Amino acid sequence: MDKKEILKEFSSDPDRYYKVKLFEEQGFVRKSCSKCGRFFWTLNADRNLCPDDGLDTYSFIGEPPTSKRFDYTQSWKQVEEFFVKNNHTSVSRYPVVCRWRDDLYFTIASIVDFQRIMGSKVIFEFPANPLVVPQTCLRFKDLENVGVTGRHFSSFCMIGQHSVPDNNGYWKDECVDLDYRLLTDQFGIKKDEVVFVEDVWAGGGSFGPSLEYFVRGLELGNAVFTEFQGDLGQHTTLDQRVIDMGAGLERFAWITMGTPTAYDCCFGPINEKLFNAIGIDSNSEILRRYFTEIAKEIDHFGDLNEVRRLAIKNAEISDDQLNKIITPLEGIYLIADHLRTLIFAITDGALPSNVGGGYNLRMMLRRINATISKLNLKLDIDDLIDTHIDYLKDTYPELDDKRDDVKTILKLESQRYEESKVHMKKKADKIKEKGTPTVDELITFYESDGITPEYLKEVDAISEIPSSFYSKLSDLHQSDKKKAIEELPLEGLPETEVLFYQADPMDFDAKVLKVFEDRVVLDRTSFYARGGGQEPDHGNIAGFNVVDVDKHANIIVHKLDGGVPKEGETVSCTVDVTRRSNITKNHTSTHILNASSRKVLGSWIWQHSAFKEDDHARLDITHHSSLSIGEVKKIEQTANDMVKQNLNVNIDYYDRGTAEQTYGFRIYQGGVVPVKTVRIVSIEDQDIEACGGTHVKKTGEIELIKITKTKRIQDGVVRLEFVSGPTAFEYEKQQESESKRKEEEVKQKEELDKQREENKQQARESIPIALNMISEMKEKIFINGIDARLIENKIRCFTVHPDHDDFFHQNFGKKLVKNPKSAYCGIFEAGPTVRIMVFSGEQSGIDAATIAKEIASILGGSGGGNAKFAQGGGKDTSKKDDAIAKAKSMIFGQSEENDD
Ligand SMILES: [Zn+2]
Ligand SMILES: [Zn+2]
Repeated sequence: MDKKEILKEFSSDPDRYYKVKLFEEQGFVRKSCSKCGRFFWTLNADRNLCPDDGLDTYSFIGEPPTSKRFDYTQSWKQVEEFFVKNNHTSVSRYPVVCRWRDDLYFTIASIVDFQRIMGSKVIFEFPANPLVVPQTCLRFKDLENVGVTGRHFSSFCMIGQHSVPDNNGYWKDECVDLDYRLLTDQFGIKKDEVVFVEDVWAGGGSFGPSLEYFVRGLELGNAVFTEFQGDLGQHTTLDQRVIDMGAGLERFAWITMGTPTAYDCCFGPINEKLFNAIGIDSNSEILRRYFTEIAKEIDHFGDLNEVRRLAIKNAEISDDQLNKIITPLEGIYLIADHLRTLIFAITDGALPSNVGGGYNLRMMLRRINATISKLNLKLDIDDLIDTHIDYLKDTYPELDDKRDDVKTILKLESQRYEESKVHMKKKADKIKEKGTPTVDELITFYESDGITPEYLKEVDAISEIPSSFYSKLSDLHQSDKKKAIEELPLEGLPETEVLFYQADPMDFDAKVLKVFEDRVVLDRTSFYARGGGQEPDHGNIAGFNVVDVDKHANIIVHKLDGGVPKEGETVSCTVDVTRRSNITKNHTSTHILNASSRKVLGSWIWQHSAFKEDDHARLDITHHSSLSIGEVKKIEQTANDMVKQNLNVNIDYYDRGTAEQTYGFRIYQGGVVPVKTVRIVSIEDQDIEACGGTHVKKTGEIELIKITKTKRIQDGVVRLEFVSGPTAFEYEKQQESESKRKEEEVKQKEELDKQREENKQQARESIPIALNMISEMKEKIFINGIDARLIENKIRCFTVHPDHDDFFHQNFGKKLVKNPKSAYCGIFEAGPTVRIMVFSGEQSGIDAATIAKEIASILGGSGGGNAKFAQGGGKDTSKKDDAIAKAKSMIFGQSEENDD
C-alpha cells in the first residue's frame, strides 16, 4: 500500500483523521512545513518548519528542556507511574525471542507482543486494556549506525501504550491527551515545545493515521490509530481498532539529560567503566559539538561516512581528536550497546549460531571482539555483564536469574571465535587467490567452516555479499520441514470426532463416511493422526491393516492395506495398543528429556524439533556444543529420576492468553499453536508445554529412559536419540551383552599382548646366545628351534619353531646377516596366514626375494622384497608342509648349485 497516497487522503480531511480534542482545548494550530510541506500541530503560531527541518533540532544536547533529569531506568519509573495513575495496567515485557510468531525471530515492536497469527489473519490479544509495557525490541538493520550516530541502538525499550476502544479502553482523543500530559506534567517539558506531525501507518493489511510527537527535533513517540483494512478507497473499518503508541524510552532519558548522545544516559554506570578504560572525559564540549552536528545531519544524508565527515568539519574536530576521542568513543558505545542486546537475547533463550536469528547475535559478539582488539582494550566482559544487569534488574528482574548463563555463552562464543581466526584467515587467503566464489561455494564455506560472507568481505576476499546468499541458505534449511500432505477432495465432509482426546477407546465402532482408493474417513476415530512429531497409530479397521493416519484440517484420513470397507458401513476398529503405548511413552519421555536437558545444561535449552516412533525417538535441543559423556549421563539420570518420582502428567485446556500469562512462552516448545484454546501438558511443575500428543498419566509408567546416541546436527542444535519403556530394557540388555563381548575381546587381546611381550623378552635374551653358538659351530647345531648348518663355509639357518614370531625373526635375521656369509629363513603362523621371512648376507649366495616369492606362491599368496630381505605369505595352510620342505631345500640343498 502506498503510504504517501494514504497520507494525502488523510491530510486532506484533518478534522476527521488528526484533529483531537487536545488540539482544540489547548489551541494547537495546524501548519504546513515551509520546507517539506508536511503538516504538523503546534502551540507556536509562528513556527513554520516541521521538527525535522526546525532550527531547534537537537538543541536539547547540553541544554535539556526539562527541569528534571531522569536516566534510563528512572525514565521508565516516570512513564510507568504516569500510566498506572491513569488506569493502565503495567505489563512485564515479553521475550525478545518471538516464540509466538512463526514469521519473526525477534520482537521488533511492542505491538508484536499482542499479535497472534490465525491462518493469514493477524488478531490481537491483550492481557489488559488499556496497558503499558516496557518492551525490549531488537532490530539489526541499522547495525552500522550503532555507536556512531548517538541514537541508534541494536535493542531499545519501546514504551508500548495500547488500548482497544471498548471495555475500559479509549481512542484517539484520550491517547493524545495522555501522551501530551506525560511529556508536560510528568516530565516537565514546556507545552509549546511539543509538536505533533501528521503521518500514517500501514502494514499486515491494515492501516490508519498516526501522530508523531517531537520535542526539539527528537521524535519521542508515535501514536498509531490502526483503524482500517483493505485498499484505500475501498477500505472498511476494522472490527478491532487498536491504539498502538510506541515511544523510545532511550529518547525520554536523553531529552531530560541533554547528554551528547543517548548512549551516555541509557547504559548506566557501564559507560564510566569504559571511559576509564580509554581515559576519556565524556562530559566535554567537543563531544557536545560533534554529536549535535551528527544528529542534525543524519536525516539528510544516506551515507553515514559523509555525515561523519561533515560533522567533523562543522564541529572543527582535529585528526588527533578524532583518533583519540571520537573513534574510541564509538567503539565503546558499540560494546555497551551490543552487550546489552546479547544479555536480553541470551536471557530469553537465544544462542549465537549460524542459523536464523542466532546469526545476528554471533555477528554482534564478533563486532564486540573486533572492537576490543582494534582499540587494544583490557576489558573484563563478565564484569561488564554484571554492571549492565545490576543497572537493569529493577526494571527487568529476569535478567538477574540468567546472569551466569549469559556469561557462559559469551565466554564460549568468544573463545570459539579466537580459535577459528587462524583457520578462517588461511581459508580466506585461499579464496582470495582463487577468485570470486559462487553463492553455493559461499554457502559451503559458511556451513562447513563457519566463515561468514561478512568476514570474507572484511578481509577483502570478496567485494560484496551476493543478495541471494541468505535466501538460498534459508531455503536449504527449510527442506526438512514436515512432509507435504496430499490434497484430497474432502469438501462437504464433517469434522472427525476425535476420540483420542476423549475416552480414547482402543476398540470402537465407527461409520465409514468416505473411501478414496486405499483411504478411509470415519465419523469418529481413536487412531492418532501424525502430528507434533508423533507418528500415527496402527491397528485395523474392518479387518484391514491401518498403515498410516493423517490429519487434513479437521478430518482424519486412515490409509489401509489389503482392502477397504464400503461407504456407509459401520465397522469395528482396533488400535494397536502396544504400538500406541510405546509411542506414548516416547512422547512423554521427550518432554522429560527436554526438561532434564534444561536442568543439566542451562536455560538456553529449547526443543528444536522432535520425533516419536514406536521403537525409537529423538529430541533435538538448542545447545551450543556437542554433549560430553558426563553430560549425557547426567541428563539420562535426571530424566530417570523424574520417572522414578512417578510424577503426575496433567492435561488441561486453557484460553491461549491465560496459558501464556500463567506459564510464559516456554509452553511453545513445539512451536506456535494457531488455536485459541491450547492443550497444556504439564509434568507437575517440572515441564509445561502446549502439546497435542498422547501422554502417560504418571511418569512411572515409562519405567526407563535410555539415551542411545547424541550428535551435534547443526550449529546450535544437538540431537538426543533415545528409547523408553520396554524398548529401553531391551536396549539395556543388548548393551550389557555387547559390553560383555567387548570385555571378552579386550581380555583376549590383553593376553595376546602379554604373550607377545613375553616372547619379545625371551627373544632379546636368547638371540645373542644362539648367535654366539652358531658363530662358533663346527658343522651344524640345533639351538632354540633353529636348524643351523655350516655349508661351504657359509652359515645357513632355518626355523619353523612355533614360539618364534615376527619380532624374533626380524631381530635374529638382521643380526645374523651382519656376517655377510649368512642366510636365514623363518616360517611362522600369523593369524590365518603362514608367513615367511628371508634374510641374506651379501656373500651368502642366497637370493631372499626368490625364496619368499616361491614359498608365498605355494601358500596361495604373494611375496616380495630384494636379495637381502624379503617376505611373503599365504592363507592356504594345507600347503604348509610343502612350503616348509621347499624352503628348507632352497636354504640348505641348493646352496651348491648357486655357489660360483
Ligand atoms: Zn519539514
Ligand atoms: Zn509434546
